[in-house]
Amino acid sequence: MKPFVYSRATEAAAAVRQVSNERSAKFIAGGTNLLDLMKSGVELPDRLVDIARLPLAEITALPQGGVRIGAMARNSTAANHPLVRERYPVLTQAFLAGATGQIRNMASVGGNLMQRTRCPYFYDPAMRCNKREPGSGCSAVEGFNRIHAVLGASEQCIAVHPSDMCVALAALDAVVRVQGPEGEREIPFDDFHRLPGDTPQQDTNLRHGELITAVDLPALPFAKRSHYLKVRDRASYEFALVSVAAVLDVSGGRVRDARVALGGVAHKPWRAREAEKILTGARANEETYRKAAEAALSGARAYKHNTFKIELAKRAIVRALSTAGGSGA
Ligand code: SF4
Repeated sequence: MKPFVYSRATEAAAAVRQVSNERSAKFIAGGTNLLDLMKSGVELPDRLVDIARLPLAEITALPQGGVRIGAMARNSTAANHPLVRERYPVLTQAFLAGATGQIRNMASVGGNLMQRTRCPYFYDPAMRCNKREPGSGCSAVEGFNRIHAVLGASEQCIAVHPSDMCVALAALDAVVRVQGPEGEREIPFDDFHRLPGDTPQQDTNLRHGELITAVDLPALPFAKRSHYLKVRDRASYEFALVSVAAVLDVSGGRVRDARVALGGVAHKPWRAREAEKILTGARANEETYRKAAEAALSGARAYKHNTFKIELAKRAIVRALSTAGGSGA
């Protein structure tokens, strides 16, 4: 591993200053992804600024009925917090579907947002990868692409975002709060992660030196009726082939409002707005859910080894909506 300077920040402004002053400096919290990337030579920071002890781990109720999760809250703490469990079961389920108990105990919520793709070519410096080395090519397009994207990809990169938590946050319209050299700002969740386009090396719209301080969940009373479904090759410690976060407001057998987001299918957590349009106002039954699933995948494009993902995603959507929608009462 390349040598680097390590320092520990005790307050957020100092951490921001240290990272923004040095182009190749990075924040480190739980280190559950970054250390792997450093060991394989994908990430080569000259300085790591440890933010794990910043006082940003609180989970609190917001005045209008929402919840604020501090960026340093551990995934296991956030998953099991009563405010999250009661108001946003889809988020608790997503947290608990991710990684292992040990990793969830280490990984921070802010770090989960910053996870990088698990495309195997990205982790192997001997392979061509536009995300690791812009302009070098993409080994996955003509390579083994079973786990890769079917929505929103570009010829530059067909990787998928690996987080479960982020799929639930996309469905819940979360807001990411950040502090940077120029002050604080809020980023709507849909604008936080990027599609690959011609710049697959950029996963997010964060600017260098900006520190994630919290994630705000807006009040969404009907999120009590929600479900996270993850389909994967084995029952635990595995990334999603396809996942679905479904949140439904059902009354009198009709869907009054709906939120649907998909994981494992795109470079960012994928909000299925076409599906939401079909659902809203329609009868809460399997026929509607099937139409919504068709709409969600209508723009899908498969590669040599991942055609199965399109049908898998449709079936997962129907199952997740059926679970969240119940009998439609
Ligand atoms: Fe790299 Fe993206 Fe291609 Fe994977 S899919 S090899 S991450 S450019």
